[in-house]
Amino acid sequence: MLLAAIDLVNDILPADAQKFSAGWVPGQNSGVPVYAVRSQLGPTEIMSTFSECGCVVVQASALDAWFADKVGTGTALLTIEPAQILAYMLLHEAGHIARDAAVADATEAGSTQGGYNLDETVQKQREEDADEFAASAIKLGLEAGGDRGYAAAQISLALTNLSWNLTAHRLLDDFGGTVLRKPSLFWDRGLSHPNLEWRVLVVNDLIAGTDTTHKLLTEFEAARSQGTDGILWQAPQSN
Ligand SMILES: [Zn+2]
Repeated sequence: MLLAAIDLVNDILPADAQKFSAGWVPGQNSGVPVYAVRSQLGPTEIMSTFSECGCVVVQASALDAWFADKVGTGTALLTIEPAQILAYMLLHEAGHIARDAAVADATEAGSTQGGYNLDETVQKQREEDADEFAASAIKLGLEAGGDRGYAAAQISLALTNLSWNLTAHRLLDDFGGTVLRKPSLFWDRGLSHPNLEWRVLVVNDLIAGTDTTHKLLTEFEAARSQGTDGILWQAPQSN
């Protein structure tokens, strides 16, 4: 599965870009090495780039737990090819490698420090930059056509399905939460990464740029910025 993801990403990246290689395959030493690990990362952490080794470490075995955490296990979910989501994550790491001054993540991914918030942090901006890099690689791939376009189309479709699944999970598994615009659904969990559903909507809109992708993003952002109607989350009055 990881090899398939590496192949997809190498197909999409332009010829002069830094590519990835399977770190565990002898003789493959051009490009950024990717290593498969078990249990070195957090329980639902899939991927991280380390400046110490100049490599990407992937815990593909955590992908099931990651999906369960993000979209639940309902029957309304669309099927997503795991290798295609891993490929997107690798493209995102390529963005970190290309754009970050310091490669290593300063805040542990998945850390919930800061609670639910809309704070702008340097770390969140780096994540948005890496997503933008990945989105533009996919968009360029689609325009290029051929093998590159086919690989890009596969990842783009996986992201569309992921977006659908995230929304279905929010609406079907926590309908009241959507009505109340609960921060746990619309805001960012922790200070390191923006809200995943929002991130995927942004990326899909960058790639496709259709009226539909734009409308979905705008609607989510409206709910995100309006905050909650209810009194559930109001701070206690001090007087
Ligand atoms: Zn990242």
